[in-house]
Amino acid sequence: MKLDSKTKRKIYDRTRGYCHLCSKKLAFTNYGRPGARAAWEIDHSNPRANGGTDRIYNLYAACISCNRSKQHGSTRSARAQNGRTRAPLSAEKRRKAVRDNTLTGGLIGLLGGVVLGPAGAVLGAGIGAAVGNAIDPDG
Ligand SMILES: [Zn+2]
Repeated sequence: MKLDSKTKRKIYDRTRGYCHLCSKKLAFTNYGRPGARAAWEIDHSNPRANGGTDRIYNLYAACISCNRSKQHGSTRSARAQNGRTRAPLSAEKRRKAVRDNTLTGGLIGLLGGVVLGPAGAVLGAGIGAAVGNAIDPDG
């Protein structure tokens, strides 16, 4: 598939430059260069052989080895082999997830304060911060 660099960049950025199957960091400039460090290709999440399209929502950055070993297999099972359930988030979605986690943590802190008074607020804030930090935005 021939792609202009703007489209390649867009696909690369969808997962912040990480392989959508194994989450390894990819080198943007090593697109389509097998053997190069952190080389990558574009994977059709739903393979073309199964009717997958060339639309951007079906395209993800993947290491060459991941992409080639996936072949016509499903994205779900390829990710599962790497212990993943979803693709790394784009920078924008990741920012939002981190913000939501922080908000969740803050709310727990607030609740601690309401229920237990000032000491509870401190305790709650601690628990809230721990919960907020424990939620992995990359799942
Ligand atoms: Zn990979």
